[in-house]
Formats: sequence, structure tokens, C-alpha cells
Amino acid sequence: MCGIVGYLGKRPVTDVLVNGLSNLQYRGYDSAGVAVVNENCISIVKKEGKLENLESALESTPVSGCVGIAHTRWATHGKPSDINSHPHYNADKTIAVVHNGIIENYKELKAFLAEKGYEFYSDTDTEVIPKLIDYLYEDNIETAVMKATDMLKGSYALGVVSSKDNNKLVGVRKQSPLIVGIGENENFIASDIPAILDYTTDVYLLDDNEFVIITDEGIKIVDRNNNVIEKAIYKVDWKKENVSKGNYEHYMLKEIHEQPEVTKNTLDSVIDQNTGFFRKITFDKEMLSNINRIYLVGCGTAYHAGLSGKMAIETLARIPVETDVASEFRYRNPIVDSNTLVIVISQSGETADTLEAVRKWKGKAAAVIGITNVIGSSVSRECDKVFYTRAGAEISVASTKAYVAQLTLLYLVAIEMAYTKGILTEEESKEYISKLYQLPKSIETILDSEDRIAALAEELKDEQSLIFLGRDYDYPVALEGALKVKEITYINCTGYAAGELKHGPIALVEKGTKIIAVCGSMRIEEKTHSNLREVMTRGAEIYCVSSTEHKEFTNIVISETIDLFTPILTVVPLQLLSYYIAKHKGLNVDMPRNLAKSVTVE
Ligand code: GLU
Repeated sequence: MCGIVGYLGKRPVTDVLVNGLSNLQYRGYDSAGVAVVNENCISIVKKEGKLENLESALESTPVSGCVGIAHTRWATHGKPSDINSHPHYNADKTIAVVHNGIIENYKELKAFLAEKGYEFYSDTDTEVIPKLIDYLYEDNIETAVMKATDMLKGSYALGVVSSKDNNKLVGVRKQSPLIVGIGENENFIASDIPAILDYTTDVYLLDDNEFVIITDEGIKIVDRNNNVIEKAIYKVDWKKENVSKGNYEHYMLKEIHEQPEVTKNTLDSVIDQNTGFFRKITFDKEMLSNINRIYLVGCGTAYHAGLSGKMAIETLARIPVETDVASEFRYRNPIVDSNTLVIVISQSGETADTLEAVRKWKGKAAAVIGITNVIGSSVSRECDKVFYTRAGAEISVASTKAYVAQLTLLYLVAIEMAYTKGILTEEESKEYISKLYQLPKSIETILDSEDRIAALAEELKDEQSLIFLGRDYDYPVALEGALKVKEITYINCTGYAAGELKHGPIALVEKGTKIIAVCGSMRIEEKTHSNLREVMTRGAEIYCVSSTEHKEFTNIVISETIDLFTPILTVVPLQLLSYYIAKHKGLNVDMPRNLAKSVTVE
């Protein structure tokens, strides 16, 4: 969610901080602020609303120095306002803090500090942190931060500066991401890679309860007992271009167009080009033969990828799969034992609910496997085994290319499992893989009909509600299409299993109701068509995504592939449809209201 940037170096500090924040805007936020240390004072400027508000405030009140912290806030405690924005500070403004996460015991801490005479000006949980550090400060800021974190409950990534201990930048993380960017005579902290990609691709990945202290002498990472921790430098392989829009008007459109390449890159990361087969078989035959249940766990779009993954694994590898949303899975009482495999899916690898599922079941399940797009993310570090989607940085809040990459990986996982279990021969596996390799070309063909889909979006843009229907392999895509349109167009969309409609939602259908039907899978296409006729006789108009034209419907035609893999194709027109509806409505496509890119709070 929200973002943190910290900088110590010789460049104009506010420029680096604001540039970093602008590269984190995609995460979703409602206010922004900076704190810069200059000699014996800290200048703090913070503003509700978009980053431009902060930028204009900084133009009228320029601040300079050589160390600073900055934040984009996604409010959890206290409404978005100038006062509630970060950085927060102590009474004499000698300590400033930015915080991502939630302090669960802030009420107790507030009462404790109030008794000691501390006064509070904001409604946030965060404000207790600078006050607590102030209370515990003796002779250096890092020790005070360490003592303060002993008293904090909840999740946090913190950036701290102090004018009592200037030229020092302190960071710490617990259950919220924080990385350290390594430059030449300059160093950074950030909650997310894009913030520092303009300056460096060398980073240290902090683990929970590790503290970083950046000074003119360099970077020191220590544990709570001040033991120095030697960390390996991690080289980020994302490109700067990933965080720019290129020639596209929005990131979302650029990312939709990147899908052929992303699908191919994800396949290439696992498949040997020469043999057309897996570079290595990652599942252990004996372990897999003991697995009698798989849970696929994710949130939002990743959950929908999981629903398609379930169908692929059950169809090919014949292992029962249950798909669950992480916020439910983490609190219910699923049957997980040494014969169970848990597979979590998270684009950012930092989704709080998904991570909790990892932490809860690691060691109890036979293995917890992560599918993520971010190398070095918490999911990648905490799971027993990890598969990476090769989507590059996904900036648009509404996920498109990461979803298609997740589907690609899940299909590969299903094929590999089936091969390992002896259900598919090498030749049969190669046949499936070669079909997957045809998909990038087929996605390109769909992208060629962008203008037509844009025109259909014009017809749909004033609708108050839309119904998305699909059966079988198309059902998860109907859910994903409904989510995509809902997220960025604010039209009330319902995604439903086509055959289930008449058990309730058909009551919504009246003359002129617009229905988007996903009919990529040919297996039982006729069944879906019957359901569509049921609603047409009640006045509905059908927009149908399928591989053949049907006279009765408005058609969006996709290339043919085997039924199992159709979701990678059928989703593309729905992504374009949602994009163009939002664009025609003049909405903020890349940053829809209330949403954040990576949801790091529960
Ligand atoms: N809980 C804090 C607040 O509401 C931090 C929110 C965030 O992570 O941006 O201010």
C-alpha cells in the first residue's frame, strides 16, 4: 500500500524523495509528505491528496538538507488530511517518522505517553511512534528506535530521522516491506523497488526485526542486539522502462499490451527452448504422490487465477484442489497436514493476508509454495519453494499482465505435476507446452481488435450494472472480468456461473440488461448458450467473447486454443473493455478510488 522513501546523499534531497514517491504512486495513496533534516532542525511538509499538492507546497516552501524521509499514506487510522499525513513528529520537531502498517496497541501507548505529558495532534496510530522514540531517546536515535519497537505491536516499516542525531537515516521492518538501496556515496531506504530504480539496482532486502542505519560512512544492518548482519547484495532485474508509460496513455493499457511478451517470458523462464520441455523437474515424485489435497490461496485477481489453476491441476494432475481467499483461509480451520500442499499467489509478494497464510501453514503442510512477481519479496523469502511470474513491474492498480503470467505459471505447474505423477508422458507434456507457446501470438491478434472493443465500451459506459457469465473454464474469467470492470469503472458488476443464474440473479434481468458472456471453452458451449437464451427471452442483450461468431449475440472473437488454456485469451477483451469504459467515463484508470496496489494490511 502506501510508500516509504528515505535518502542520505549529496543530491537535492527533496528531488530524490519526491521522484521516489512519484514512482510509488501506483500503490494507491491519499496524502504525501516529506521531512528533511538540515543542521539542527527538521522541515516537514505534508499534504492531503495527490503528490502534486505536496510538490506545489514544496515549491512555495523549499526545504533542503542531505537526509530525509518521505511517505505516501493509505489511511487506516484517521481520515486523509494534512494533519494525519506522515511524517509524524515529536513536540519540538526533532524526530520525524514515516510508517507503513498498523500499530495495534496504539491506544495503550497513547494513554501511557499521555500520562507522561505527551500531547497528540492527529488521529493516527503512527503518531505514538515519534513520541515513544522521544520518550526513550538517550544519546542516539537508533537505540531509541530499537527500544520503541520493543513496545510496538502490529506491523510496520519505519523510516526515522532526527535533528539531534543528524546525518543519520534509520529504518526497520516487521511484516511490512522495506529495502535498502545501495548507491555510490548515497544510500536509500524504500518500501518498494520502483522508488529507487532511477538511482540504483543494488539492494539489500531487510528481514523482519532488522534495523538499517545509514550514515555518511555507509550502511550498517543490525539485529535488536546490535549484532551486525552481513547481507548479500541483491541485483534487481527490472528495467526503468517498466516504471514509465512509454507511448501509452495509461500504465494499464501498456501492461495489457505487454501480455504476449510476459506470457513468453514466463514460459521461457521454465522451459528449455531447445527441448520444448522443463529445464528441470522441481517436484519430488515421492512427495507429490503423497499429496492428497492442494489449497490455492490468493486475494482478488490472484484468487481468480487460483480458480483457473484449480481446474488445470485437477484436470491434468488429478489432485483435489480447493481455492480460497486468503483473508478467509487464514482464519478458518482448513485441514492441512503433511499430505497437503499450500500454494499462495501474490503479485507483490507482500499481500498481508496471503503472507499470514504462509506463516500459519509453513511447517505443517508438506510444503508452502509461492507464486509471485517480485524477487526478494516476503512471499519469495518465506515460502518453501517459489515460482516467479516474469511480468516485470506492474504499476497499474488493476492487475492484467500479472494475472496472465500467474495463469501461465499455474498451467506449467499443472503440467509438471501431471508429468511427475506419471499421468502425462514427456511427449504429451511437450504438446501442452507447445500450445502454451502459441498463446502470445493469439493475444496479439486479440489486441488487434482493440478499436472495436473500445467502440463496444462506449455502448456500455453509461450502464448502472453489468452481469458477467461463464461456465467451466470460463467461470473464473467471468469473475475476473466483473472485478476488472468494477475496480476501474465503478459500475456494479456481478460475476456468476452461467448455470447458476436462474437460481437467483436472473431476477435482476429486465429489458436492456447488458450481459457479458465468456464462452471460450467449447466443451459445453451449448449449455452456456441455453443460459444466454434464457436471459435474452427476458430482454437481455448479450456481448459474447468466444472463438466463433454467433448471430444472436454481439461477438468478440478470440483465436482458438484448447479449452483449458482459454482463460489467458478470453480475459484480454474484458481487460480492454474495462479500460475503455473507464477511459470513456474520464476516470483515473491507473489509480482507481479507494484501492491500493499491494495490500499490506489485513
Ligand atoms: N496506519 C498508518 C496511518 O493510518 C499508516 C498507514 C499507511 O500504511 O500508509 O496513518
